[in-house]
Amino acid sequence: MSVYYKKTERNDLGSVVENIFSDFNVNPTGTVFLKPNFSGRPPILGGENTSYEVLEAIVKNLVKRNCKIIIGHYALLSLNKSTFPFNQMLSVGGYDKLSKLGDVSFVNLEEQEHRLVKIRGLYIHIPKIIDEVDYFINVPKAKTHMETQVSLSIKNLMGLISGNSRKIFHKFFLNELLGYLGVHIKPNISIIDGLVSMEGDGPHEGTDKETGFIAAGNDLVELDSFIAHLMGFDYKQVVHINQAHKLGVGSFVDKNIIIKYQSELHDFKKPGDHMRFGRKIYFWPTTSCSLCHEVMRDIKKSLKKDIRLGLRFYYHAYFSKKKINIILGRCENMEYFKDDINICIGICTKWFADEHGIDFILGCPPSAEKVVDFMFNKIKE
Ligand code: SF4
Repeated sequence: MSVYYKKTERNDLGSVVENIFSDFNVNPTGTVFLKPNFSGRPPILGGENTSYEVLEAIVKNLVKRNCKIIIGHYALLSLNKSTFPFNQMLSVGGYDKLSKLGDVSFVNLEEQEHRLVKIRGLYIHIPKIIDEVDYFINVPKAKTHMETQVSLSIKNLMGLISGNSRKIFHKFFLNELLGYLGVHIKPNISIIDGLVSMEGDGPHEGTDKETGFIAAGNDLVELDSFIAHLMGFDYKQVVHINQAHKLGVGSFVDKNIIIKYQSELHDFKKPGDHMRFGRKIYFWPTTSCSLCHEVMRDIKKSLKKDIRLGLRFYYHAYFSKKKINIILGRCENMEYFKDDINICIGICTKWFADEHGIDFILGCPPSAEKVVDFMFNKIKE
């Protein structure tokens, strides 16, 4: 078996998981580690997080095999972890119920020991637990992604590395570095949850799409190139999939498989490179990590709470004489709009700001309050 794909109903997931294990001739025993895709922020959206039902079907199958199951995740991305801690995320998403199904525990990878690996001269922390378990199942979500085009089995591995390592990825060539994760982290199998996927400006601002499929594979490149194709992307143009292929992580999907599943093409709305507020304010995430995205979300919340601030913002959004660009991330392919008001947020933008003589606000990430002050001062100028 090379790749598995099936349109499925929720009540059929038990047999789908059994078929996947049997088709790939895998027989998980002992301690099994599951890595879902958890956004780590409220609300827990269907298209953003691995669904409870998919995890439940896998867990039930593993319980029948007398496995000890560890569900682990790192990416608790909310800025203020005290307002949405790991356990709360599990209970709000209903995932905590999984522990009632058998020997199931949850591990906040932030509290685990790590090993260091060197990727292109940069040190990345990878949790040791994934080397210690008997079996590792990667359970990503099918999503579009404004910075990486798609988020599938390779991208899901990023939720295993430490917060600082993730920041390093975003500061230096996110897409190329992602390809290396497949060299250093090797799940035994990946099972992609495409029951409800995300399209458009994923992974955070996209919209849910009912796609009703489950896909699986034991070759990260093959599986991701296959599903990226079904989502309507040219997988060879998806830098991290291409990079993983170049590094020998796996092979691109075979043409015969593409032909076989041609009728399963889903017309996913592609992610944009910017979002617009009103007529004049443009938000450019470039390669920003979720922390700077969260700052933007926090700003939106504070604009709703503080009516005066909100009115000021929307006045500029509609009546500013110049276009206002709010720029985040490393700006690798960012065009410089010299006649606009450009506002650079966070340390990642430093080189772009320096190159074009733009002031930028320091921080990784800077606080929402500082960004609001900075923004209004720049607009006033
Ligand atoms: S500056 Fe922002 S985008 Fe860059 S690593 Fe820090 S938090 Fe992430």
